[in-house]
Amino acid sequence: MASSESAVSCFETNFQSSPQVVATAPGRVEVIGNHTDYNQGPVIGAAIDRNVTVALSRIADTVFRFASSEYPFVEVNDSSLKQSGENAWVNYPLGVYNALIRRGLKPSGGFQIAVESNVPSGAGLSSSAALELASAKAIASAFDLELSDKEFAIACREAENDFVGVPCGILDQGVSAFGQAGQLVHIDCRELVFSTFPLGSAYSIWIFNTHKKHSLVESMYATRHKECFEAVDQLRAAGLEVSYLADVNPDQFEAHKSRLSEDVAKRAEHVIYEIERVNQVDSLLAEGQVGQVGELLFASHESSSKLFENSIEELDYLVSILKSMPDVVGARLTGGGFGGAAMALAGEAFTDSYAQSVASAYRGRFGDEPDILHCHISDGARLLSSN
Ligand code: ADP
Ligand code: MG
Repeated sequence: MASSESAVSCFETNFQSSPQVVATAPGRVEVIGNHTDYNQGPVIGAAIDRNVTVALSRIADTVFRFASSEYPFVEVNDSSLKQSGENAWVNYPLGVYNALIRRGLKPSGGFQIAVESNVPSGAGLSSSAALELASAKAIASAFDLELSDKEFAIACREAENDFVGVPCGILDQGVSAFGQAGQLVHIDCRELVFSTFPLGSAYSIWIFNTHKKHSLVESMYATRHKECFEAVDQLRAAGLEVSYLADVNPDQFEAHKSRLSEDVAKRAEHVIYEIERVNQVDSLLAEGQVGQVGELLFASHESSSKLFENSIEELDYLVSILKSMPDVVGARLTGGGFGGAAMALAGEAFTDSYAQSVASAYRGRFGDEPDILHCHISDGARLLSSN
């Protein structure tokens, strides 16, 4: 993980003092449940052993200073103002601070924060939620605010939705908040119920980061979000009393899909059947049948690619190669899509040399290699120290 020492050292270099608190939070993979969260369906994720770690001190002056080894130093006097351009990275901790004020934090003075990370940014592994959760744990501790993990997850999502301006669901923040070593996190996004269940120690997650990103990724995510709600509107116009795609079962969908416009029908079909797949994965895992979930992971990818159209050629290729590899249970794109990474859930016989062969096949086709990250399922956001 991005170590406590490196965050402390970044803090000391920038602020010539020792931090009051240190907190860390993991990135995550979406195991299955693609774009189900904001449609009020279920989703299953896992926290990975890649973290954002922050060191923070409260200060008497009403000033907010932000240091990161990868982004520019920023100082602001008004914490309610959204930053732009190369300073925009501070909107994550700043948005969290504002969300915590709404939950009872008494603003008094300011803070300075230093950020270290080994979660690749923009790869679909949710460095943004990890930054939010680590900041939230640190700010809450420094300002003596007590929150449950559920409240932390909700406050951080609010920061990303309302302050940063990304309409993400609760998956990223929920998994970063509730992750546990060796356990998958299941989220019922309608009731906001978070639960964990064991996967079995023989399995780990392999991530192949393509570094490809569609230039319009933000607006494409927003378009898909909009199309899902258009599907609900069109289904209501066709006589179904529903508020979210999670209210629609496959039989209802099949009976009404001819009333939907073509693209909207494809997006709805993806989400409605993806919810079924998440429920099937749940049942299989409850019976300890990890080996059986693979087909559902591959089917999820196929549906993303063909129906939700949020895959790219590079991810389709990775998934097809991974399918032929020994001890790969399942593979799919992970996260919002339109670039980013593919993940594989694999047993112990899938080794680094197989992963390398996937990367070389990819190089043969696309000319460059994806980064390989072998991740173990890890603990969620937590305070590491406080003075
Ligand atoms: P993802 O969450 O998939 O990694 P996002 O675009 O949602 O991608 O979030 C990435 C953003 O998070 C970066 O553009 C940056 O603003 C912020 N971020 C990620 N890592 C760091 C870091 N080490 N220091 C400061 N900001 C970071
Ligand atoms: Mg993000």
